[in-house]
Amino acid sequence: MEQKPAPIKDHFGRVLKDLRISVIDQCNFRCTYCMPKEIFGEDYVFLSEEELLSFDEIIRLAKVFAELGVEKIRITGGEPLMRRDLDKLIAELARIPGINDIALTTNGVFLPKMAKKLKAAGLERVNLSLDAIDDEVFKQINGKGVVTRPVLKGIEAAREAGLQVKINMVVKKGMNDSQILPMARYFKGKDIILRFIEFMDVGNHNGWDFKHVISKKDIINRIDQEMPMEPAEENYYGEVASRYRYKDGEGEIGVISSVTDSFCGTCTRIRLSADGKLYTCLFASDGFDIRGKLRDELTDDQLQEELTNLWGRRKDRYSEERSEETRKNRKKIEMSYIGG
Ligand code: SAM
Ligand code: SF4
Ligand code: SF4
Repeated sequence: MEQKPAPIKDHFGRVLKDLRISVIDQCNFRCTYCMPKEIFGEDYVFLSEEELLSFDEIIRLAKVFAELGVEKIRITGGEPLMRRDLDKLIAELARIPGINDIALTTNGVFLPKMAKKLKAAGLERVNLSLDAIDDEVFKQINGKGVVTRPVLKGIEAAREAGLQVKINMVVKKGMNDSQILPMARYFKGKDIILRFIEFMDVGNHNGWDFKHVISKKDIINRIDQEMPMEPAEENYYGEVASRYRYKDGEGEIGVISSVTDSFCGTCTRIRLSADGKLYTCLFASDGFDIRGKLRDELTDDQLQEELTNLWGRRKDRYSEERSEETRKNRKKIEMSYIGG
């Protein structure tokens, strides 16, 4: 049997394990904290077909990454289910030796149409984003006046297809903190893990301010008062969500606390944008143009060398260093472009 190469490590000794692939920068929603419609309006120019990485290019890169130790792939966007034939891409990715986990992050609206096909292609898990259970609050957030029903139908379809489902809720003060308890109540006992995400200062257009952040501690306290919880152990090294289980045995929740309790020390992720730029941090200013290298016909060995060097140079730890100064002076890429 062929021997696995030694894992590649960055400047701080962090191993590369996860690849997040954004397959499209467009979305059917205009969430106020991600793609505010004042900026992503009618005239906004999205990537052209030619600019997007082709499926062949994505698959080739994923193979090279797998040879460098990547085991997990997450597909994201924009809204990834707006990329035509996504199931075909997933089927190819699932065949790559060494890749043992493929997941998708989606707003869920297209899942009723797609869930079975995706599961058949080899998808294991979906993270569905739902920021409120109340229709009026949700309509305001998604910027398109969409009620919760299509998303709830998406959750149902994913479960029926046999996909493992987690729900992601970004919490922003004044936007949807009133929904923390209703969301927890709704998903408790349904065998679905709800994960709260602290509102992050990604990109330059979402008007982030620390005063909008509801901390992990606050989220936990609010739920614990009504539905007592206790901390649960990590499922695996580098898990980003802190887990808490309900004392009555009715499941668990997670909190992703990139702002108030960061986890850069165990960050094993690299991100590929839809137009083929690699980012070694969610808060990076610039990407590394791997599409140019692919289209310049580098060999797989040359690509491997480029990627090993890129990861080796990595010193990112933005969340640990976050301050007014670092925030003001940094141009950052948008979440809808890099995919979270
Ligand atoms: N459209 C898909 C979706 O919404 O699931 C995938 C892409 S979206 C950019 C990925 C995740 O990033 C979503 O769960 C979204 O809520 C989250 N997100 C976007 N902007 C964020 C921010 N400023 N802080 C925290 N999470 C954010
Ligand atoms: Fe679209 Fe997801 Fe961003 Fe909302 S969070 S605008 S669904 S990409
Ligand atoms: Fe990883 Fe950057 Fe997030 Fe730190 S801030 S956990 S380095 S993506």
